[in-house]
Order: sequence, then C-alpha cells, then structure tokens
Amino acid sequence: MTASLRLIDSHAHLDFPEFDHDRDALFAAMAKANITTCIIPGVSPVHWDRQLQVAHQYACPYGLGLHPWYVDAHWPKAIDALSERLDNCSGDKKLVAVGECGLDKMHGENWHWQLPALEAQLLLASKHQLPVILHSVKSHDPLISMLSSHSLPRRGVIHGFYGSVEIAKRYIELGYLLGVGGLLLNEDAKKLHKVVETLPIESFICETDSPAMTPKSAKGSRNSPLLIGQIVTKMAHLQKKSNVLISERLLSNVLQLFEL
Ligand SMILES: [Zn+2]
Repeated sequence: MTASLRLIDSHAHLDFPEFDHDRDALFAAMAKANITTCIIPGVSPVHWDRQLQVAHQYACPYGLGLHPWYVDAHWPKAIDALSERLDNCSGDKKLVAVGECGLDKMHGENWHWQLPALEAQLLLASKHQLPVILHSVKSHDPLISMLSSHSLPRRGVIHGFYGSVEIAKRYIELGYLLGVGGLLLNEDAKKLHKVVETLPIESFICETDSPAMTPKSAKGSRNSPLLIGQIVTKMAHLQKKSNVLISERLLSNVLQLFEL
C-alpha cells in the first residue's frame, strides 16, 4: 500500500473502553497510515454521551442508534431518547447516520422487540434524511422484507456483511451497500470471498468493526482501524484490480453514502 492512499474505516467503535488507554496513540498511528477518519456508530442510550465525546474530540463522523443486542422491553423509551438526541444533533455535520440498528437472531431472546425497534429507527432515518448502518446476523430474510417496505431516501449499509452472492444482490437491488470487514481475511470465509470477487466495487465499503471481529490471523490481539489496509489489499486481490483503484473507489463510495 503506498503512502498516498487515503482510507476511511466506515465502522469502528473507538468510543469503547478497550481504547481508553491508548486512543491518542491509535489516532496518531492511523494518521501516519493515511487512515483519515473512522465512523463511530452508536449502540445504546447509556453509550451515547461517551460516544459523542470521543467523536467530537477526534473529529470523527458518527451515527446514533440502538443496536439489537441492547433492545429490551423498554425499547419505546430508548427510541424516544434516540429521537430527542437526533433532534438535538440535527445541526451537527458530524452526525452522518442512524445506527447501528438491525436484527440479530443469535441474540434471539429479545427478537420480538428487535423488529419494532428497528422499524422505529428506519422511520427516524427517513425523517432525518440520514442513511442507516444495519447489523444483520442470521436475519437477512426479515431484514430484506422490512427494507423493501420502507423506501429510505438515503438507504444505507449492511455492515459486516456475511452471506451469499444471492443475498448480497438482493440488498444491492434495494440500493444498499455492503460493509466488508476483517472476516474477509479469514481463509475459510469462502462465501464472502465469492461476494467480493463477483460483485462490482461500487457495491462495497470497508470497515473493521473494531474492537470486535478480529481476523483469525490476529487472534488474541485487539482489532483496530489499522487493519483497514489489509482488508483493502485483500479486496483488490479478489477483484483482480490494483490497490490504488480499489482504495479510491472504496473511498468515494463511503464519502458518497455518508456525505462526508
Ligand atoms: Zn458495530
């Protein structure tokens, strides 16, 4: 990777406590590696204050949302709080998305609340004319059907996408991008390799989902946006194009989607 390539990590939870001891050093290392910024998604009302503080301190764009793992019986209250936050932040240019929100069948015990909580957030994305950052684990069918019935003005991204080429195409047909993360670096992630090999580069943005989703090769260490260069290189390899071309396209895709 040459030094002139500008990269953006489209999904990193750099507000999480895992980064408290070395956040300054990490942002300095990112700048050195030409990773100009990362988008920090929101996950729940108890996280938003700290998230916004970190986002503002490091001038990062951010999303505000209720992650499916944090949805419980009190979800209507959390949605009211989200709606109020979005109103309060509506003049802030760094607010670029609603999310992360979505569906997760692996955390199925709150499934019946996840659906209405997501629907409420899609309506908020519509109202505020923002794209959505979507989390989808073992939930592609219900998510696709919900996205089909809500035509959001700015669509969004299926972050950390993992699924078949057919599923990927259904999202793309609806106007959504696919966020490709560290999973791509795992040799056994064949389905994802196929998706990146087959579909046009216009369909993707790249992300690390730090501190989660550490690839197997880096097992035991903390994931961080510094990994984004490796993900871009792997995407370029699978697309059989140069690093320069692929990183430029990925950059323009993320700038366009979030109007950065
Ligand atoms: Zn996330």
